[in-house]
Amino acid sequence: MRVIVVGAGILGLAHAWAAAKRGHSVTVIERSAQASGASIRNFGMVWPIGQMPGESLEIALESRALWLEATQAAGIWANPCGSMHVAYREDEWNVLQEFAAQSSQLGYQCELLQPTEVLKRTQAVRSQGLLGALFSHTEVCVNPPKTIRTLPGWLQEKYGVQFQFGTQVNSVDSSGVHLATGVKLAADVTVVCSGSDFETLFPEILQSAGMRKCKLQMFKVALPAPGFRIGTHLASGLTLRHYKNFQVCASLNQLKARIAAETPELDRYGIHVMASQNDAGEIILGDSHLYDDEIEPFDSDEIDALITRELLRWLDLPQWKVVERWHGIYAKLDSGFVFEYEPIRDVFACTGLGGSGMTMSFGIAERFWRSR
Ligand SMILES: Cc1cc2nc3c(=O)[nH]c(=O)nc-3n(C[C@H](O)[C@H](O)[C@H](O)COP(=O)(O)OP(=O)(O)OC[C@H]3O[C@@H](n4cnc5c(N)ncnc54)[C@H](O)[C@@H]3O)c2cc1C
Repeated sequence: MRVIVVGAGILGLAHAWAAAKRGHSVTVIERSAQASGASIRNFGMVWPIGQMPGESLEIALESRALWLEATQAAGIWANPCGSMHVAYREDEWNVLQEFAAQSSQLGYQCELLQPTEVLKRTQAVRSQGLLGALFSHTEVCVNPPKTIRTLPGWLQEKYGVQFQFGTQVNSVDSSGVHLATGVKLAADVTVVCSGSDFETLFPEILQSAGMRKCKLQMFKVALPAPGFRIGTHLASGLTLRHYKNFQVCASLNQLKARIAAETPELDRYGIHVMASQNDAGEIILGDSHLYDDEIEPFDSDEIDALITRELLRWLDLPQWKVVERWHGIYAKLDSGFVFEYEPIRDVFACTGLGGSGMTMSFGIAERFWRSR
């Protein structure tokens, strides 16, 4: 079968791999000269712990296994480092304890750590005031720009997937795609993975589905000292109100109310703080969340300062030298973990993975191609 995939972000690459593995002839069309969307702008956190129990957690765990398989086969760095949510306030510790008590029954692989055990796993958190942490075994770290820009070469070499970069798809029908150059490419099946572009392909469907855009500010600090490793992905108590998994905890409401009263500016800009470390030792830090009409092309110093303030409450690095700042925009649906639709026969479109696209894409693509 001839398959065209629109978009060379993580979701497009995942579909290309899943289709090519099944013997289909796959061509990926990407507008930019190289992938430049959300998939190269993120933390590189494959984060099953953040998913709701049930179907989305199962997909995330399958995705994790596929990440390890793909990166190993392609010779790309990936670190199954796990993750740690650290607690410095009683209400944070209460949520972690409540979550840990039900976690294994719900399918998570995590455990509570006392402060001495936390400090054995990471040298990057402050010991003063530390109450403990939730360590989860299932998270993986990848280096987004390197990985997303290396996978196409591997897919081409190993599976014969063809890539056309610098090529815009203007429209899609049941027989293939129409390029901006005027060329028509024939396909039996087209999969559209166009991320946060709601304007070009099927805009009426995306708009009526209630799709939203979300902008996140991020930055990166240099390797803090030779050989310095943070040991695992790190997140603080603010993150407990961000990912859906902690919604199973009744104690979360108290934590949310305290943050809203104490630091309303964090809710205003959707700030929670996390750290991941890539293979070069650089530490990626963020983030904030602004939606739709609030999104400007300009990044806000105030937001970066708030993110920094919150990180420095618990993150302890020997050196803090910011080397890059950027923002990314992802597509998000308020309900559900993905928006999959078939606008026309043999055309399938998929987006709206929000802050979990790196975590979910391989599993979502695998599920799609397995069912065909
Ligand atoms: C700052 C930030 C941090 C994040 N952190 C994480 C994280 O740590 N873990 C996690 O799981 N998720 C994270 N996410 C979410 C994740 O990055 C996204 O969900 C995911 O990258 C979306 O992938 P995608 O392939 O759908 O979109 P994209 O990566 O945006 O790719 C879409 C591609 O389609 C191309 N395209 C669009 N329209 C056309 C067209 N008409 N013709 C040709 N090409 C077209 C675009 O050029 C683009 O390259 C983060 C997101 C951001 C922004």
